[in-house]
Amino acid sequence: MLTLKCSKCKGKLFRYLKIGKGEVLKCYKDRITDKFNIEERGECLVCSVCGNKIGVDKGDYYSMVSKSFKYRGAKENKQR
Ligand SMILES: [Zn+2]
Repeated sequence: MLTLKCSKCKGKLFRYLKIGKGEVLKCYKDRITDKFNIEERGECLVCSVCGNKIGVDKGDYYSMVSKSFKYRGAKENKQR
């Protein structure tokens, strides 16, 4: 489970179940478990504290803006 934070204001964004290795380029909506300071504005996913653009809604997933957030936590390598 990863916890994503806004790189601008350091606010917690959401928790995400990452499966597989590699960078977080997409976040699938059904793997977002807890939402904190995050909201949708039109097609964009933004930090509700500072308005930083975090990603773009692509239907089943968000295409993430990699410089807009940081994350910590363990990546899952196996499907449970
Ligand atoms: Zn922010």
